[in-house]
Amino acid sequence: MKFLRVATMMFGLFAIASHAADSSRTKTRTVQKIAKGVYTIRHKDAPDTFPQGNTTVIIGEREVLVVDSCYLPSSAREDIAEIRKWTDKPVRYLVNTHWHFDHTMGNGTYWQAFPGLSIIAHTETAKQIEGYNPGWFERFPKRADRMRQILADGKDGNGKTLSEGDRKEYEEAIAGLAPVQEEFKTIVDHAPTISFGSEISLDLGGREVRIIHLGRGNTAGDAIVFLPREKILMTGDLVVHPVPYMFGGYPGEFGRTLTKMELLRFETIVPGHGEVLNATASRNYVRLLAEFCEAVSDLTSSELHRTGSGAANLPAVREGVMKKLDVAAWRRKFAGEDKTEQDAFDTSFAAMVTAAFNEVNGR
Ligand SMILES: [Zn+2]
Repeated sequence: MKFLRVATMMFGLFAIASHAADSSRTKTRTVQKIAKGVYTIRHKDAPDTFPQGNTTVIIGEREVLVVDSCYLPSSAREDIAEIRKWTDKPVRYLVNTHWHFDHTMGNGTYWQAFPGLSIIAHTETAKQIEGYNPGWFERFPKRADRMRQILADGKDGNGKTLSEGDRKEYEEAIAGLAPVQEEFKTIVDHAPTISFGSEISLDLGGREVRIIHLGRGNTAGDAIVFLPREKILMTGDLVVHPVPYMFGGYPGEFGRTLTKMELLRFETIVPGHGEVLNATASRNYVRLLAEFCEAVSDLTSSELHRTGSGAANLPAVREGVMKKLDVAAWRRKFAGEDKTEQDAFDTSFAAMVTAAFNEVNGR
């Protein structure tokens, strides 16, 4: 117990210290107790700079539910060892908020550790995990080739010109691929065992948990996890702080899904990546994200209809959006004056315009 108290004190201090400078890159693993029996773990990025989603552990009187299994099996093992220090109750449920590898590649590690585990995801997410995850290991050599190509081109797949910081990150990523690939050689992948369409409610013993699909956003099957009594909301990557994660989603629907999210009576948000947000900060941030999605998708849609549909028109639409949207103001709202965060914003924003274009194109 002494360990727990000291750890909680230390991490409490860390949370305060890090508040002013939350970052898209995570260099250290931290644990934060956000309510009695509720812990959020932030993981440090993998050696190939791949981010790892936040994991939240919810302990009931009978059993435990975990939200997202992170990326590296070694990190999932570390989390499981810590869960066993917090409680002797079994992890009965693992929720995958969406299919992305940084939230699901630890599934097999939980599966091996806890007999009787059920892995829960939205129906679309379950299908995506079954389809995408097993092929991840084989794609490692291709990932290296693609990153080298981006470095050679000087811009990424969404046309964003690489900054000096981006270049360094790609070089670091290429150098870090080998140890990650090595680790994944022994992984036992596991897909969800229970899927749902709109909502599942569970009782872990004195602890009600609602798992809800509010609509598409970051992916086609985003799930959020809500503790109605504690007013804590785990959002997956529908909310990522301080810079939103806008790769390949549905920016128009994203905004509407966030507007629905605002109707829930949450007082704390655990984002998919980034620090835990409390009270007014959490509400303001969701509003800002919703307004950003709305602004970008509305403008992209207007530009597309003016320019004409078809993939060939994406560059012209992008140019129109960049000209008419006050990108500098949005960048400042999310990234402040931090150069690394500004880079992260620009990369995410370039991908977001592609996603918004694809969402409307051909309709
Ligand atoms: Zn993520």
